[in-house]
Amino acid sequence: MIMHRETIRPVSLTVSTDNFVCHCEGTGWILIKGRGVKECSCRILAKTIRKFKRIPPEYEHLRIESVAPDLKRHPRQSFVWQAVKKHPDQCYLICGQSGAGKSAVMWALYARAAEQNRPAVAMSLPELIEDFKRAETASYGDEYWPELHPSKLQTRSDRWFVGIDDFHIGRPTRFAGEMIYRLLDAAYSYRHQLVVTAQLDRRKLEHNSSRRNAAS
Ligand SMILES: [Zn+2]
Repeated sequence: MIMHRETIRPVSLTVSTDNFVCHCEGTGWILIKGRGVKECSCRILAKTIRKFKRIPPEYEHLRIESVAPDLKRHPRQSFVWQAVKKHPDQCYLICGQSGAGKSAVMWALYARAAEQNRPAVAMSLPELIEDFKRAETASYGDEYWPELHPSKLQTRSDRWFVGIDDFHIGRPTRFAGEMIYRLLDAAYSYRHQLVVTAQLDRRKLEHNSSRRNAAS
């Protein structure tokens, strides 16, 4: 399932500034009498732009609403996009061969979460492992807080988007493996949106997990 440029209507990367009003005088926060503070639209806009900048160029214009998969050439791709368009809030495990367009689906869902002003992080499994390794090897006093620290996900006030690309690649250390387990567990327990892509055969995966279940 390969994306075709012609089938994708480009969407402007610039975030809409139509109803953008700044009242914070540069602090980023607006004081509400007796009710604390809320984020100013300028701060929200800056955050959204930062999230958009992390999308790889080949996917930056992808939006779920505007993707029109080529039915004749890629019948299975269209099935995935139809499911995602219909249920964009679901969690997904997207399996398929390389070049099948799995990452495109993940980044389109990431962009949607960013537009909704939700906390959104997407990276490949090797990048995630590197980030955890960096935290593992950081010395005291120079502590490093991984971008996807499992405890960040222990919240119900925001629904996070967590995208993990290429879940079949990477050799985690024991520490990183433990962190990945805790991350997935927190994402599941707190009902965040988890989107994982892997170059795996779904039937093999089901076979393996049913074998594991039978053994336990
Ligand atoms: Zn402002």
